[in-house]
Amino acid sequence: MLRLRITSTAEWKVRSGHPWIFAESIKSQSRSGVMGELAVVYDKWDNFLAIGLFDPYSPLRVRVLHAGKPQTVDEAWWCERFRSALNLRHGMFDAANKGYRCIHEERDGWPALVLDRYEGTAVLKLYSAVWFARAEAVAALIQERVGVQRLVVRLSRNIQKAAAREALTDGAVIFGPPVEGPVLFRENGLIFEADVLKGQKTGFFLDQRENRMKVGELARGRSVLNTFSFSGGFSVYAARGGATSVTDVDISAHALEAAKRNFVHNSATTGECRHELIKADAFDWLAQARTQFGVVVLDPPSLAKKESDRKSAMDAYARLASMGIDRVERGGILVAASCSAHVAASEFFAIARAAARKSGRRFAELAITGHPPDHPAKFPEAAYLKCIYLQF
Ligand code: SAH
Repeated sequence: MLRLRITSTAEWKVRSGHPWIFAESIKSQSRSGVMGELAVVYDKWDNFLAIGLFDPYSPLRVRVLHAGKPQTVDEAWWCERFRSALNLRHGMFDAANKGYRCIHEERDGWPALVLDRYEGTAVLKLYSAVWFARAEAVAALIQERVGVQRLVVRLSRNIQKAAAREALTDGAVIFGPPVEGPVLFRENGLIFEADVLKGQKTGFFLDQRENRMKVGELARGRSVLNTFSFSGGFSVYAARGGATSVTDVDISAHALEAAKRNFVHNSATTGECRHELIKADAFDWLAQARTQFGVVVLDPPSLAKKESDRKSAMDAYARLASMGIDRVERGGILVAASCSAHVAASEFFAIARAAARKSGRRFAELAITGHPPDHPAKFPEAAYLKCIYLQF
């Protein structure tokens, strides 16, 4: 097996549970490694430290699978790891929730791998080529143990070229019937579409389930502005919760069409609520908007994809928060979310609170939220989602 030694700082990090080893912290290597092979890391006394998946091309050279006492990573080990991710979710969701995350990357011990389920369709999303060699084995585990009729594989853009050499393509159906249109699934009793073949992430933003629920509860008797609405998730909940009107703003016509259909899927519960769809850049639209709303949701895509975007992302969050607050009527609520891992929750909340103070209006903090239980986050880089509720 490929053997590695790493710097003492990296050793300390791995010991404290951090799952990433970067190329620059590798001091020595027994030979050149191949993509996806198991690499064993030894500490300075030559004791087993960790075992992980090796990527010869990425600065993130080893994705740790296990650290601590030596373990043999064989088929039985992988089965057990798979079972423990499923066990964690066991009983978490009732029959009204058939869309949830079964495997959440590093936190479940499956670095750079996500498994989402939408009713009878599972979507396996790979973010690293280290998984190519094991993709078939993982698909077999899913078929055996998840109880779905179909598996779709999705690949992050940066690995699609390498995947083609392995005959893996983004959106391929690994088993089960072909995908004809969006997959419908239940979330808290509502019906949504997941575009499992082409949609962002695995086709839906399952991580916002609890915030959507909360907005639904706050919406009664209020008008709701949902910026960066995607397929109208927050809006459908708000309509069911008794909102007087909902307005979706998104830059993507495709997303807005899905929002329209999601309203139709739920027409029995969304009742008479007026639904307006606006295709626009939310920053531009907010800058010129004059109407005020009872609830304003700001849920932009990640504004800091890398560490160097941090400063500009913080400025953009501040601008968004200020513009959002201007759209909140007296007694109304701002719901501001961020999914940028490079901006810490404390920083993001501080930005929102500062914008609220700057508005000169009196406000109260109703809540802050983080990750839902099917998307646990254990180490700082894995915690990306945060949301703050401010009432004015
Ligand atoms: N709130 C959604 C998820 C939002 S995802 C939910 O609960 O499902 C982010 C959305 O922002 C995407 O639909 C994307 O099309 C949209 N988007 C990205 N940049 C935008 C911009 N500048 N203005 C408006 N929408 C934008």
